[in-house]
Parts: sequence; C-alpha cells; structure tokens
Amino acid sequence: MAFPQRLIDGYSAFSAGRLQKEQDRYRDLADRGQSPEIMVIGCSDSRVSPEVIFDAKPGELFVLRNVANIVPPYAPDGQAHGVSAALEFGVAALKVKHIVVLGHAQCGGVRAFAEDAEPLSPGDFIGHWMRLMAPAADKVGPRGPRSAAEYLSRLEQANVVNSLDNLMTFPRLRKQIERGQVILHGAFFGVATGDLSVLDQESGEFKPIERAGAGAPPRF
Ligand SMILES: [Zn+2]
Repeated sequence: MAFPQRLIDGYSAFSAGRLQKEQDRYRDLADRGQSPEIMVIGCSDSRVSPEVIFDAKPGELFVLRNVANIVPPYAPDGQAHGVSAALEFGVAALKVKHIVVLGHAQCGGVRAFAEDAEPLSPGDFIGHWMRLMAPAADKVGPRGPRSAAEYLSRLEQANVVNSLDNLMTFPRLRKQIERGQVILHGAFFGVATGDLSVLDQESGEFKPIERAGAGAPPRF
C-alpha cells in the first residue's frame, strides 16, 4: 500500500520550507521538552485546524481533537477515557494555563445529533458520542420558527458551553480553575467566513474578534 503522495509532497514542502526556519526550535523542544501554555479542544473536522487558525508554532498548542469538540463529564470508572487522559496530561504534567474549547460552524457531528441521523455502523459510535451534547440541546430548546441554519448554529455554540460545563466536573481541574491557575475559554470558528468569536462568560454570547486589517483600506 503506497503512502499517500499528497503527504510525501507535503513533507517535501515542509522540510524545504518551514522546517528550515524552525529547525532550531524543534531541536530546542526536543532537548527541553514541550511546555505549551494553551490547550485547545477542537473538532476533528479537516477545516478547523487550531494550529492553522491560531498561526501556532511547534510547541505552542497542546491539541485534542474529537468529533464535535466534546468533553464528556468526569467518570472515574476505571475505563479508558481519551479526553480525560489528554486533560490529565495537559493540566497535571504540562500545567497549561488556558483551556480553549473551539467549536465551529457546519459541524457534522452536531448536525447528526440535530437530525437524529441513521447510524453509520452497527456500533453507532457517533450516535452514542453525540448524545453527550443532549444537555446543550435541552438548553437551546425546540427549533420552533428558527431556520435550520440558525438552530444548528445555536446548538454548535451551546455544545461549546456544554463542554466547558463538563470541564468543571473534574474535581482537581475545578479547584485549579477556581484558584485562577487554569482559565477556561470558549471560541467558535466560522468556516465559510473565517471569523473567530470568543465566548463572553458574563453575557453567554460569542463575540467576534476583530480581524487584523478588517475595514482598513488596502495599503498598495
Ligand atoms: Zn465539527
């Protein structure tokens, strides 16, 4: 089975370009280890790469991605929990100072939940996984007169808040948050527009971040 040519080409471009500029940084990170201050919990969606959106260098972001950027509630039941393991490493070992839950528009996971989509396999893993956002859907309420797009957008944003709420169910993390040692943030990326909004914890609204150069006349 051939390794995908796209990846070989991509690695060639990386090694001739970015790696040349960042080789020292990679060596330093290998010697000293990583110490990112920011953990991002994002969706696996190929259009929503945190490193691209936040223009991150190697070693800057500790990233966890899964379907629909979901954090399940704390469940110390002896079973394997991927999100909890990443959180444990990010908070207890790396001592990240910020945790950002990054949601996005046109999220296929959220849409599958909203449309009660047919299982994609006998295991219905997405169905079981997405049921974790049921509390978010309860808060949004029935679709009513809202358009499908408006309703999905509300669900996607409520799903970010639900993940933030679930982070507070981890007892040690909760203590660190209450002491101000770790700060939680919600963010939302508009895939088509490229707009980024950040959750204002007081109002509960996502507020757009002003883009560099937005509204400024072209310089040349
Ligand atoms: Zn998604």
